[in-house]
Amino acid sequence: MTTQNSRSTRITQITQNPPASHTSLTVHQTARPNGFPTRDHFAFVESPVPAPGPGTALVENLYWSVDPYHREMMDGDFELNAPLEGRTLGRVIASRDPGLRAGDVVLHRLGWRTHAVVTLGTHGTRKIQQYEGVPLSAYLSILGGTGLTAYVALTRTLRLKPGEDLFVSAAAGGVGTAVGRIARLLGAGRIIGSAGSAAKAAYLTGHLGFDAAFDYHAGTVRELLATAAPDGIDAYVDNVGGDHLEGAIASLRDHGRIAWVGAVGQYNTAEPPAAPRNLFDVVGKSLRLEGVLVRNHTDVQSEFEEFLVPHLRSGHLSPDVTVIDGFGRIVDAFIGMLRGENLGKMLVRA
Ligand code: NAP
Repeated sequence: MTTQNSRSTRITQITQNPPASHTSLTVHQTARPNGFPTRDHFAFVESPVPAPGPGTALVENLYWSVDPYHREMMDGDFELNAPLEGRTLGRVIASRDPGLRAGDVVLHRLGWRTHAVVTLGTHGTRKIQQYEGVPLSAYLSILGGTGLTAYVALTRTLRLKPGEDLFVSAAAGGVGTAVGRIARLLGAGRIIGSAGSAAKAAYLTGHLGFDAAFDYHAGTVRELLATAAPDGIDAYVDNVGGDHLEGAIASLRDHGRIAWVGAVGQYNTAEPPAAPRNLFDVVGKSLRLEGVLVRNHTDVQSEFEEFLVPHLRSGHLSPDVTVIDGFGRIVDAFIGMLRGENLGKMLVRA
């Protein structure tokens, strides 16, 4: 179905890749969701591929990240009927920016579109240092903001020490798998994860080196965690909030720490969470709870790469990703990620 929107743009329902190389596609949000978003909250808008003006470069995007924070932004931060933004990786195909050359691979935030006009240093645009043997998907997952979030939560917020026992929620997702892998490299003791299905829990223990994992649908998080970590935990990376935070507070030993990274359990509802009902135990146990925002830690990126890249190059570690092929499926990938259809970071490939 195609509807004419203006002289130069058309709104198109896309199920496949872009129709022609001279055509650019951009995703717009068209309505505010109440609960889970659907395809009807988005539209693909067609326009000619833009030409780079002085000081800018034209990028053909190759990989897109779809993130839980996009769901938060759909409630008001994303302007309706305007191009969405998100982290993406692309190749420069024409440049009038003296800092960029055709062929350069760049990370930037003008995602949810097939082509972008960028300037080095704006919208997060930076050239990536490509490491031999490291796949492109790594730069938007374990080696990108996802992995950096995990690394900062573990090393800066929790200051995890070797031998300490760690719990992470949404453990089979992008940040969660990165937390598990990096914590192991840092010498963590027992690593426990929660995820949305028994199959994911089995994957965590069978393939990702977790010591214990549980499906959070199988009971209360508080009881499931107490069973998985009968001697308690020292530290918790919270990706979910609510009942998961309550369960972690109950299992934390005195002087335990919580790195609060996200609250994906709350993004699709306007209702305030019922849990944690035991927040005051933070005092009784002398716990430390601190929020983590990766954008405050971009200065750690080079240290992080130095730490991680040797493991990626040696093949000791590979990025955990679910890759959906075709820009036309980006909305499905986004909704699928919110519903837990991903193992590792959810990415879309051109
Ligand atoms: P992700 O974990 O790869 O994908 C989201 C996952 O959330 C899904 O796979 C699903 O897995 C889980 N989920 C959905 N609804 C849930 C619910 N009601 N209860 C429990 N789990 C639920 O996404 P990500 O990009 O790695 O992000 C993970 C968390 O980190 C999010 O909270 C995100 O906002 C946060 N984050 C924060 C920063 C920062 O700077 N603070 C940066 C990046 C990400 P299941 O099948 O297991 O349910």
